Formats: sequence, C-alpha cells, structure tokens
Amino acid sequence: MGTLLRTHNRLELLHPLHELAERHFLSPSPNLLQTPSSTKLFNGKPCQRRCKGSSIRISSSAILDLIPETKKELLEFDLPLYDPSKRLSVDLAVVGGGPAGLAVAQQVSEAGLSVVSIDPNPKLIWPNNYGVWVDEFEAMDLLDCLDATWSGAIVYIDDLSTKSLDRPYARVNRKNLKSKMMKKCVNNGVRFHQAKVVKVIHEENKSLLICNDGVTIEAGVVLDATGFSRCLVQYDKPYNPGYQVAYGILAEVEEHPFDVDKMVFMDWRDSHLNSKAEMKERNGKIPTFLYAMPFSSNRIFLEETSLVARPGLKMEDIQERMVARLEHLGIKIKSIEEDERCVIPMGGPLPVIPQRVVGIGGTAGMVHPSTGYMVARTLAAAPIVAKSIVRYLGSEHGHAGDELSTEVWKDLWPIERRRQREFFCFGMDILLKLDLEGTRRFFDAFFDLEPRYWHGFLSSRLFLPELLFFGLSLFSHASNTSRLEIMAKGTLPLVNMVNNLVRDRE
Ligand SMILES: Cc1cc2nc3c(=O)[nH]c(=O)nc-3n(C[C@H](O)[C@H](O)[C@H](O)COP(=O)(O)OP(=O)(O)OC[C@H]3O[C@@H](n4cnc5c(N)ncnc54)[C@H](O)[C@@H]3O)c2cc1C
Repeated sequence: MGTLLRTHNRLELLHPLHELAERHFLSPSPNLLQTPSSTKLFNGKPCQRRCKGSSIRISSSAILDLIPETKKELLEFDLPLYDPSKRLSVDLAVVGGGPAGLAVAQQVSEAGLSVVSIDPNPKLIWPNNYGVWVDEFEAMDLLDCLDATWSGAIVYIDDLSTKSLDRPYARVNRKNLKSKMMKKCVNNGVRFHQAKVVKVIHEENKSLLICNDGVTIEAGVVLDATGFSRCLVQYDKPYNPGYQVAYGILAEVEEHPFDVDKMVFMDWRDSHLNSKAEMKERNGKIPTFLYAMPFSSNRIFLEETSLVARPGLKMEDIQERMVARLEHLGIKIKSIEEDERCVIPMGGPLPVIPQRVVGIGGTAGMVHPSTGYMVARTLAAAPIVAKSIVRYLGSEHGHAGDELSTEVWKDLWPIERRRQREFFCFGMDILLKLDLEGTRRFFDAFFDLEPRYWHGFLSSRLFLPELLFFGLSLFSHASNTSRLEIMAKGTLPLVNMVNNLVRDRE
C-alpha cells in the first residue's frame, strides 16, 4: 500500500465537514513525511527504507520511520475506454470504481444495459486491507477472492480473560476480487473513463456528468459510489458521525507472540502502558485495541484501532500507542510492506432519501455504525440495487428521472434496513460513552451471546424484532456493573432511537 501521505486512503475529502475531519486527524507528523528517494534518514543515518530480507533489526520506536515505498499496483489488462467523441448516452453511469461501484456496474451490464464506470484510476488495485467473516463471502460465492483464512479469532478482554471465537475469518484478496469484477464488466461491455466527476446536471429523463478532464457523459441513471468522499449524494442533516481511526502495517517481523491459526479480532490489554501513566490514562478514557492477522510466524498485519470516537482520535496518538504495544509484545519489525491509515465515518444521518442520484457503499450510509465494516454488506446489496435499476429502467416499467431513483432508493433502504441501522447507531452511541473498563465489560458479555446473535449483529443479519431479543440477551449476559452502566449511558440514546423509529415511517 502507499505511503502515509498517499491520497487514496486519506479520503479525498470533498465535503466541508470532511475537510475539518482531515485537519483534525490527518496532519502528518514530521517523521512521517516521505522523502522522494528510495532511502530515508533513519536515526540520523541514511537507511535503506525497505529492509525486506535483510538482517537489519529495527526497534519498535523506529517503526514509523519505516514508511513503505509508494506502491501503486495496477491491474494488468486493457480496459475498453469510453469514447467522448461519440457522445454516447448510457443507461447507467457509475461514479467511483471501489467495491461498491464495480459490483453494481458488473451486474447491471450483465442484464444488457449500457454502463460507463468513471474513476480517477480504474486499474489501481484497491489499497485497503479488507477483513471479512468467511461465511459472508461464502454466501456470495466469493471464496476464491480470499487470500488468507483463519479457523477462528481471539479477543483479549484484558490480561486475564480471552474469548475464542469459533468463526472463520479471512483477508480479502483485493487483486482477485477487483480483477474478477473488472473482467466481468469488460465481458459485459462496460466502458471505463479515467477522470473525476466534478458536477452533475439533471434534466427530466437524463443526467449530465461533468468530469475534471472536460468530458461530459450523459446517462439515464447516475450511481454515486465514491465512498466516504460522498461526491454527488446529498445530505440535509448536520453530518456528525463517530469516527473509527486506525493505523495498520503489513510487516515482516523477527517473531510475534500470536497463534498463526487465529486472527486477533480485538486485543484490549493495556499492560504495555503500565510505565506510561499519561498514555494509560488517555487509553483508559478512549481506548484503542490491536487487530492482527498473522500470516506466518514472521509476517503479520497489525492495526491499532479506535473503534469509534467523536471527535476521532488523532492518527499520531494511535501510532504512539501502537509503538508502545509492539515494544511490550516484543515484536521487532524488520520491514514494512504496506501501511494504511483508516478513517471511517460511522453512523450519522442517512442521505436524503429519495434523491435523483442513487448511491451505494460508503457514500450511502452503508457502513455498519457499530463496527465500521461494510464490504460484505455492500457486495450483498449490489444485486438489489442492480436489479432495481434494471427493472425500472426496463421497458416493462419505463421509469426515468426522479421516479426511477425513488424506486431504487426504496429498494436499497427499505424500512427494515433503516430500523436496523437505527439500532446499530444506538449501539454506536453506547460505545461512544464507554471507557476502557466499560468497553471490556461490554465485549465480555457480547461474545458470550449465542453465536446467532453476535454473528447476526456483526453481519447485519438481525432485524428489529430479533435485535430487541439480542439487546435483552446482551443485558442478561452483562455483569451487574455493566447493566447499571448500560442503563445510565444508554437511556438517552435509547430515547433518541425510539423517537427516530417513530418518526421514520414508510
Ligand atoms: C483503510 C480502510 C480499511 C477498511 N477495512 C475494512 C474492512 O476490513 N472490512 C470492511 O468491511 N470494511 C472496511 N473498510 C470500510 C469500507 O468497506 C471501505 O471503505 C470500502 O472501500 C468502501 O467501498 P466503496 O466502494 O463504497 O468506496 P471506495 O472503496 O472508497 O471507492 C470509492 C472510489 O471512488 C473514487 N472517487 C472518489 N471521488 C470520485 C469522483 N469525484 N469521481 C470519480 N471517482 C471518484 C475513488 O477514487 C475510489 O476509487 C475500510 C476502510 C478503510 C478506509
């Protein structure tokens, strides 16, 4: 993955509030600045930045100097391009070539409709390290798009207590997944245009997309799939999400203490901060955990994560905590293959529903408000959006313009999904109020639930009646302290949720 300053993972923040967020979280600390050469000053001496395979041993505190080379891996096949000189009008224009956009482009084109996919870098392999539960990808017949799987996961509640999760987990092979989708798109006749969309103009039955290279593309339907940059989809309520902030590295290490058969879903231990009173206090108030995918005894993905906070934690704070943790765990980094800076807006209002531009993925409020996960949910929602576009654009219904978009939005966010999201936002509001001890108590009870409850909650498979049973079950599994805490901290969010549920009717 790119460098700490690469733009892709820094969210191309177009929304004014996002600019604020960017100022808040993403100011690079001086030691994170990348030098243009392939070497970089390391402890005042020139050091080979990529030390892969060498015997150089680097202490944890120097981890952040080991910024990987900008690695922009591209797919190696030719893409059929949209020819602006022909000024062809298409049925669907998909803005954004992330997982959400490509999934819909692939499926709408499969039905014989004409599709153009617009992205500033259509061949770039997605940079994020996606983790999913294996059953989620199995249900979509995507097992061939996983590159590492673990038979289960482990949660460290604290130094004395762990939970063993009997649910296989995997890392997505983003190159395979993107290649698979792109190949299908190409076979179905999708055309690609390499640019950024800067504006949309709507007419009664069609829309015009203006790109930053001066090209205008006319389409019957416009799908905004631009992730968290929310390029075209409109919001009409104050945007005040929580933020998941994380710093991750894929590293070659001398050794690490984790079992290679289990991924570490959450490590809430804080003994690494015992000699760092100020950091320990900070972590006690707004905790971070370690998420780790051990690929072998000396290759591991490590990510220090703030589950959710408002405002989000600063990246430097997260990095500092990670350095302390790795030092304590005796993890000595030899080289860093990739790093990722993760800032995921969670919860907050849904976009205006309905509106003329259709949305999917990050831009359409689809991130799980209590976990930050989204890939599996979006890939599962893509056929719904695609079918809806095909059905209403098809001759049978012959819908166009606003009428068509209204139907597609209804299918993407039916009342059951909106109620489910409201419950997940309630979950997020409670998590926002919990300190380290409260968070530990919460997950201690959560992972003691029957698997159908915690699996269903994490994978957005529970709907409102079941979610109420889930809530009651969680309450009954909680310790007395935790129950009191949930009552004290959850009452206001509960009232808000009930109000929102009552207000939001079909
Ligand atoms: C670092 C990171 C790690 C994550 N890890 C996970 C995970 O492990 N599991 C999980 O479920 N979720 C994860 N998420 C959350 C979420 O699943 C991802 O953000 C996912 O990539 C969102 O998919 P998307 O298609 O909606 O948007 P994106 O993947 O962000 O794709 C949007 C595309 O739109 C393009 N674009 C933006 N603006 C324009 C424009 N104006 N015109 C044309 N194109 C434009 C961008 O270049 C990009 O290619 C992670 C998020 C981040 C940031």
